[in-house]
Amino acid sequence: MNFQAPKGTFDWMPPRSETVLAVRDALAGPARRAGYGYVETPAFEDTGLFSRGVGESTDIVTKEMYTFTSRGGQSLTLRPEGTASVVRAVIEHGLYGGPLPIKLWYSGSFFRYERAQAGRYRHFSQVGAEALGAEDPALDAELIVLAMDGYASLGLRHVRLLLNSLGCRECRPAYRAALQDFLRALDLDEATRQRIEINPLRVLDDKRPEVRAQLAGAPLVTDHLCGACKAYHEEVRGLLAAADVPYEDDPRLVRGLDYYTRTTFEFVHDGLGAQSAVGGGGRYDGLSEMIGGPQLPGVGWALGVDRTVLALEAEGLLAEPAGRVDVFAVPLGEEARRRIFPLVAALRRAGLAVDMAFGGRGVKGAMKAADRSGARYAVILGDRDIEAGAVQVKDLTTADQTAVPLTEVVDVLKGRLS
Ligand code: AMP
Repeated sequence: MNFQAPKGTFDWMPPRSETVLAVRDALAGPARRAGYGYVETPAFEDTGLFSRGVGESTDIVTKEMYTFTSRGGQSLTLRPEGTASVVRAVIEHGLYGGPLPIKLWYSGSFFRYERAQAGRYRHFSQVGAEALGAEDPALDAELIVLAMDGYASLGLRHVRLLLNSLGCRECRPAYRAALQDFLRALDLDEATRQRIEINPLRVLDDKRPEVRAQLAGAPLVTDHLCGACKAYHEEVRGLLAAADVPYEDDPRLVRGLDYYTRTTFEFVHDGLGAQSAVGGGGRYDGLSEMIGGPQLPGVGWALGVDRTVLALEAEGLLAEPAGRVDVFAVPLGEEARRRIFPLVAALRRAGLAVDMAFGGRGVKGAMKAADRSGARYAVILGDRDIEAGAVQVKDLTTADQTAVPLTEVVDVLKGRLS
């Protein structure tokens, strides 16, 4: 029986997997430097958290959740997104009683039973950030700037920011009604007709050309914002401009989760084909109450790690794999292996990156492994060296080789590599 990674999942393997680590660090870096603290929540939660939090009518909840019954009879779901879990944790730990806003970031695996295709997987990785407890346009703008800075720090030049406002409890109902009136008059299939009644904004997100063609004259949410939402949106736009972050107004940007209010945004990359979103987020002022918490406004984003790696690839920015190690140790014979082993440990404890030849290969094989490791130096130990209490230090870039007393080799290599 040959096992393979399940459909819609894959393995990141070295050396490409190094880029995954670098992307996670780069995307989280700006938020960490802006005072966001790390939060780690479980990979599964009570199913109700997502059905209530993400929204009963969303694709995620109706079609894409990995839900199972635990041995104790509880319905659990592998997390399809991070915000509901973070808000749950903030409520559970009573953080809303402390200093506000609460700023948190996370990184981890998420699970959605999607139609697998390039850039769309059933298991994927996100870095996210959330700020709760303040309704301040500067917080929305801060998060957007932090995400854009994260992409920029990776060298990405073709990430575009799409920006919209979805209004609030005051103005959204009137817009919703106007949109429903418009949509009911269109020629649409039964499933879409049902969606008009449950969640009409999502119809705007329909990607099918025959639907898109009919949506050209649809009323736009930005024409229906109340005074407060309009002012809030203007403030966010002004702050982004002041921080030199270009954006494109996209009055049709709705996003697939129900909890968004006011600011919504998406980061897209044009080199990725159909799955162009490398990240997205927005404000979710009602989410805490929807899952049984206090009134607690919030704003946040989630950035796709896998798709950001694809974007780097599309821009030709995947770094040449750096050498795995600085030093590669080559013992010639069993006695040499016994003696070189503690030297390798000592070099590593001194802070150097060191590997050695394993498996008793001959000199040729071992030297090939040394070359392949990308190490700058090989440390070679043969019988004659053992007698002399020395090792041969070979510079693999110049092939220069010198004998160095065993007692000095740690200091010598540290010096040469510093
Ligand atoms: P969302 O929570 O859907 O807004 O997702 C935020 C980001 O996570 C998206 O912009 C993508 O970059 C990434 N993402 C979401 N779903 C998937 C998926 N199925 N496969 C790969 N990346 C995904």
